[in-house]
Amino acid sequence: MAINKDAYLQLAEDLKNKNITLVAVSKTKPAEDILALYELGQRDFGENYVQELVDKQALLPPDIRWHFIGHLQSNKVKYIAGFVHLVHGVDSYKLLVEINKQAAKANRIIDCLLQVHIAQEETKFGFNDEELNDAIKQLLQLNNICITGFMGMASFTDDLEKVRSEFKYLKYLFDKYKQPQTANCKIETLSMGMSSDYKIAVEEGSNMVRIGSLLFGERVYNK
Ligand SMILES: *Cc1c(COP(=O)(O)O)cnc(C)c1O
Repeated sequence: MAINKDAYLQLAEDLKNKNITLVAVSKTKPAEDILALYELGQRDFGENYVQELVDKQALLPPDIRWHFIGHLQSNKVKYIAGFVHLVHGVDSYKLLVEINKQAAKANRIIDCLLQVHIAQEETKFGFNDEELNDAIKQLLQLNNICITGFMGMASFTDDLEKVRSEFKYLKYLFDKYKQPQTANCKIETLSMGMSSDYKIAVEEGSNMVRIGSLLFGERVYNK
């Protein structure tokens, strides 16, 4: 196991100059790889699986900002509510209600990004324009969450123009919902872009990228 140190340093510097937050996606990677990036200065890490996140959080330095970027099931919110920094993939109002409930129990306000369905593939989760509008309107009653922005994933395809148009659409929605802001809705973060498409995402206005394999190498799923 080894991290791509040079790739990391260059990317971190480049993104920092552009005021873009780099979330290092460490799913399936061992704690020592995370620690290696931590020692180079990285603090934002993203995980997809609740149990894996809980295990790693217990082992690793307490000033790491843990991002949950996977598909979160309502019945698992309670395991991460005490420490999670940002939940990226919130794709239903029901899930928001549960996060709010668990955040209240933990005496916290949890920041969340609404996941927007931008890919034409049917398997991707997320809100459409109209659903975003409804969810944002209903938010005011949820005092222990704050919607801080949107997250989206483009189609998994070699057609880069398609990827670009999907990111463009997400940026359009981001701009559309930016104002007016309310006590628990401040749309400021646009989480889009992964190893294969972050350059396009950045060109289209992303201010948070989620990058795994470029930093940690390809993932090997055993089991
Ligand atoms: C795994 C994952 C990433 C990182 O993917 P890479 O291609 O390894 O950069 C980003 N976002 C989400 C939601 C992921 O599940």
